[in-house]
Amino acid sequence: MRIFAFLVLLLSPAWALPRLGLHEGFTRLVFDLPENATYAVALDKQTVVLTFRGVSEKPDDVSVGSPEVASYQVVPGQDALVVYVRLKPGAEPRWQLYDDAQGRRLVLDVFSPPSPKPASTPPPKPGGNVDSPAPKPQPKVVVIDPGHGGFDPGMVGVVVEKQITLAVALRLREILQARGIQVIMTREQDEHLSRDKATDLSMRADMANSKRNLFVSIHVNANGKGTAQGVETYVFGKTVDNSLLDKVIQENGGGEIGKRLTRQAESLAESLVSDIFAQFNLKYSKQLATFVQQSLVRATGALDRGVYSASLHVLRNARIPAILVEIGFGDHKIEGAKLADPKYQDRVATALADAIEKFLSNGKTASK
Ligand SMILES: [Zn+2]
Repeated sequence: MRIFAFLVLLLSPAWALPRLGLHEGFTRLVFDLPENATYAVALDKQTVVLTFRGVSEKPDDVSVGSPEVASYQVVPGQDALVVYVRLKPGAEPRWQLYDDAQGRRLVLDVFSPPSPKPASTPPPKPGGNVDSPAPKPQPKVVVIDPGHGGFDPGMVGVVVEKQITLAVALRLREILQARGIQVIMTREQDEHLSRDKATDLSMRADMANSKRNLFVSIHVNANGKGTAQGVETYVFGKTVDNSLLDKVIQENGGGEIGKRLTRQAESLAESLVSDIFAQFNLKYSKQLATFVQQSLVRATGALDRGVYSASLHVLRNARIPAILVEIGFGDHKIEGAKLADPKYQDRVATALADAIEKFLSNGKTASK
């Protein structure tokens, strides 16, 4: 065992880890990742747990002492290296994988807790009946995922999917922000999050965490023949309708990868049937999907193809209501041309915003 461990140490690239940056308002930890290294991130109360495979490093315990990060600890294990990043109370971590000219790296940014409100409001008068103002409602936070991007164009027909999904998503962000809703985008330009499709979809899915209110992934449909039109909306679950399977595989990355990710998601969907939280969340996802489907059909006059459940990788781990909407068929001559029209994109974005707003304002409380 000892010899084996020694060999692993020799074979795994030596790793200088992490690069630490202290900035105004946040602390940045950068983990450079060799080609074949994999990672997983989990949040356990005030500790970010990063599990790496394919790298090795000596044990270490480093006190950081920034306003956001107390310390980090490096713990080499049998087949994985675990790094525990201990946060200061209220600090908020965000992570993203980058893969560009500067190399492949996981960037963990830990932000300061929002500073307490300045004491500009006069203190309540002593005695008497204090009219304490109602606590300000927390702003709603929505995650918008423009499907595909970068090396992955998505469907290519009359239009290129990645361009339409981004255009609609950016417009949707504008509309939501104007209505006081905060928006987090999985991408803001023509880029992929990772060259590895599974990692790419997981990184998008990871943004659907419990600090956000809902997740909407925007896609453009195709049937390969240019004969279909209309709008479809999806929630996560087993792909009941077998005729949808080809499309699900396509959206899960296509080819062998798409098939593998679909199989994984199918078996997860099966196991979630007995997960009370997942079923509870699914109920709200279905409600959001219904609002979105109705609103889109009403605003565009497009054919209503219905709401389905399917084993879509990008929705599989959502802890908040999460849907994937196919806003139209990009390989249909007429509908494809519509999707390319900024005025039509605006109509689609407005319809999505209306449905999201309706869900956020009364969706949860109105549901039975
Ligand atoms: Zn797509």
